[in-house]
Amino acid sequence: MGKGKAFSLLSGGLDSLLATRLIMDQGIEVTGLHFITPFFGYSKKGQEARFEERWMRLYGIQARIIDVSEEYFQVLRHPRYGYGRNFNPCIDCKIFLFSQAKALLEGEKADFLVSGEVLGQRPMSQRGDTLRIIERDSGTEGMLLRPLCAKNLKPTRPELEGLVDREKLLDLRGRSRKPQMKLAEEMGFGHYPSPAGGCFLTDPVLASRFRKIFDQSPVITTEEILLLQVGRHFQLPGGGRLVVGRRDEENQKLIKLRQKEDVLLKIQDIPGPLGLIRGKKEEDILSLAASIVARYSKAKEWNEVKVLYGQEVDNLSGGLLVKPAEDDQIAFLRF
Ligand code: SF4
Repeated sequence: MGKGKAFSLLSGGLDSLLATRLIMDQGIEVTGLHFITPFFGYSKKGQEARFEERWMRLYGIQARIIDVSEEYFQVLRHPRYGYGRNFNPCIDCKIFLFSQAKALLEGEKADFLVSGEVLGQRPMSQRGDTLRIIERDSGTEGMLLRPLCAKNLKPTRPELEGLVDREKLLDLRGRSRKPQMKLAEEMGFGHYPSPAGGCFLTDPVLASRFRKIFDQSPVITTEEILLLQVGRHFQLPGGGRLVVGRRDEENQKLIKLRQKEDVLLKIQDIPGPLGLIRGKKEEDILSLAASIVARYSKAKEWNEVKVLYGQEVDNLSGGLLVKPAEDDQIAFLRF
């Protein structure tokens, strides 16, 4: 034991857990780095200790959760290798995350990095030439070990120096999940996450919202990105936006995400959605927003509905009477 020290990129998916354990099982001290941004992993924000304890309990892996949101917004704005099918800049994303890991490696004098990638598993980011580009551009050539497919790749420095026994590494290739599931069983993983990583940048609806906000705003904030993930969104005249919660859980999120200048709207005495306006709030805009909120309430067939509005959900002091909007009047405002 005590042979060396490594950092692994712990996405939280099965492959990264297995890769980490394969190297730990060779007596190397590995710390899993779990990078989060509002696009992936952000539900762990504020609960880092709980999730770190969970990885230790379930998989015996020591992990560190690191928020890289601010820097990530820059990556998303100008990805050198472009976007995938949606707003996902997978190659640049990996280059960025590997660069972050490399900086930690240098700061803490670790020997090498570990990643759970499998050659040929994903169309864009896990082809052989792409793996090499990611290494080159993140400056991790020779120090990035991919234990699940290492035998299909050139030996890395830790293998050449004898820190890691190459014979015990794997030669996986392609999309099959079976070998990973078998390995998980052998390692005693009772429960493990599904492979779909849960990155919002690959969600077509959310991706188009993100793209729009990146096109419109020179400065992006985490709160803005979190708001785009909640409810139905409408573009209002004058550049503002209305968000309408779809369930109580989303209404609660809107209350939490409300900023000082935002206005909340709610139908009087009838259970229904909460609306949030961000941006201009002239009277005609308020009326339009109120009619949209009414459209999604139980009073959508009524001729007239009273909508309350204000900044504090417990003190909606304004009120206006509106007719619920018709779908065809507001469809073009949806985004
Ligand atoms: S799916 Fe999302 S988290 Fe994964 S590499 Fe692509 S952009 Fe990054």
